[in-house]
Amino acid sequence: MGVKSEVIRRLFSRPVTTKYPAVKADLQEGLRGKVEWHKKSCIWCRLCEINCPTNAIIIDKENRLWSVDSAKCIFCGRCEEVCPTKPKSVTLSKKVETGTTDRESLMDVYQGDPVQEKQPAEEKK
Ligand code: SF4
Ligand code: SF4
Repeated sequence: MGVKSEVIRRLFSRPVTTKYPAVKADLQEGLRGKVEWHKKSCIWCRLCEINCPTNAIIIDKENRLWSVDSAKCIFCGRCEEVCPTKPKSVTLSKKVETGTTDRESLMDVYQGDPVQEKQPAEEKK
């Protein structure tokens, strides 16, 4: 196909680019966005923290704090992969618009539920 005909064809075809951010991007399946934690299923095993290659996850088990630093995260998905719970307690969301000039805002600190004190078993009569 000659250059001339290609130019004419392009003039009358739809653009391949989108008007992002005015028009939201069509996100692909399997896209790895911002890391999220789900406190209901977390068993505080720390596997996500130990396996994170950039030390982006910090767990303070004693105070029930689970945090992730998106500035350090490389969105590799390793934390989600190693999390043993069903459903997964750490997942990569489809949130990709994380650009900011505020470094502190990239740190997400989640507060977990306090440790349940075990009730002493009722003595058998
Ligand atoms: S996606 Fe990778 S870098 Fe980001 S918190 Fe999970 S293990 Fe760490
Ligand atoms: S690996 Fe999963 S269950 Fe274990 S601490 Fe991390 S989020 Fe919680």
